[in-house]
Amino acid sequence: MIIQLEKDISGHLKDEVLQNINNIGYKTMEVSTQFSDYLVSVGKKEFDIRKIGNLPGVRDVHRVSDAYKLVSRKWKVQPTEIDLGDGVKIFRGGMALMAGPCSIEGEGQVEKTVEHLLKNNIKIMRGGVYKPRSSPYSFRGLGMDGLKMWHSACRPHNIKIITEVMDAEQIEAMYDYVDIYQVGARNAQNFTLLDGLGKVDKPVLLKRGMSGTLDELLQAAEYVFSNGNEKIILCERGIRTYEKAYRNTLDLNAIPILKDKTHLPVVVDPSHGIGLRKYVAPMALAGVMSGADGLLLEVHHEPEKAASDGQQTLDFAEAERLYAKVEKAMGLR
Ligand code: PEP
Ligand code: MN
Repeated sequence: MIIQLEKDISGHLKDEVLQNINNIGYKTMEVSTQFSDYLVSVGKKEFDIRKIGNLPGVRDVHRVSDAYKLVSRKWKVQPTEIDLGDGVKIFRGGMALMAGPCSIEGEGQVEKTVEHLLKNNIKIMRGGVYKPRSSPYSFRGLGMDGLKMWHSACRPHNIKIITEVMDAEQIEAMYDYVDIYQVGARNAQNFTLLDGLGKVDKPVLLKRGMSGTLDELLQAAEYVFSNGNEKIILCERGIRTYEKAYRNTLDLNAIPILKDKTHLPVVVDPSHGIGLRKYVAPMALAGVMSGADGLLLEVHHEPEKAASDGQQTLDFAEAERLYAKVEKAMGLR
């Protein structure tokens, strides 16, 4: 059960609501986000929900039996819109393009990418400065110095930055330089990281775990929300299956199903989803037609020379052909 409290509820009235829920035998967790105050109560007993709904100080109450609650559409039918400022928004029914290299490599690369984004009217640049790599000997990113350099290059143009945070300890230092924190597939169930991201007021993009179910993805989102941050975007990036012909299996079934289950925006990452440059564009378009609210794309001025994931990265000309097709596909939805 979710109980939304009036914004200015007194301590006394809140105690009374808590007492009433306690009397039914439900356990309650208090959730305070940047937008509202909630009580999330869990219990089995049947009772007349109006008993709680009619209490003074209660704005709204709903029964949600799923393991995830606040991110469920059973609680909030109205879609969540992510506002990044300067008119840049990620929202249900829209098509937020986020493009850039797998890894931030240096000033020259960043400048070329910014130029490419400006030319194509793309407002969000992706890139990693902390890279989760299978081998410790691979390039692991430029860290905070790279992020600051990248930020300086984007700010004058109001280009927003999405980048991966790998550890709860990095959250604070990164705060002033990011617009969206990305949680990578390998960290999809890093609950201390999710707890930490719930305590900041910046959007968080959650990638589906390598072998994560949709329920697990939604519960990861519930971690962030229940810690206080409602600004969440979900991302399908492929799951690991028995198939070896490509890097991952992009599970586009997830898109309409997630959009049914949650009010959060859902985007697709076809680059990691298939892992082969040649097939990124068709899968991106399939993502658009599946109802995605955005695309996360790896692009590089010279993919052959990229420090990571070059094999799945589009060059600028390929990317431009794709953007034009995405626009056409949007007209068919
Ligand atoms: C990335 O976006 O470059 C990345 C490492 O993604 P994922 O966590 O989906 O593998
Ligand atoms: Mn990558």
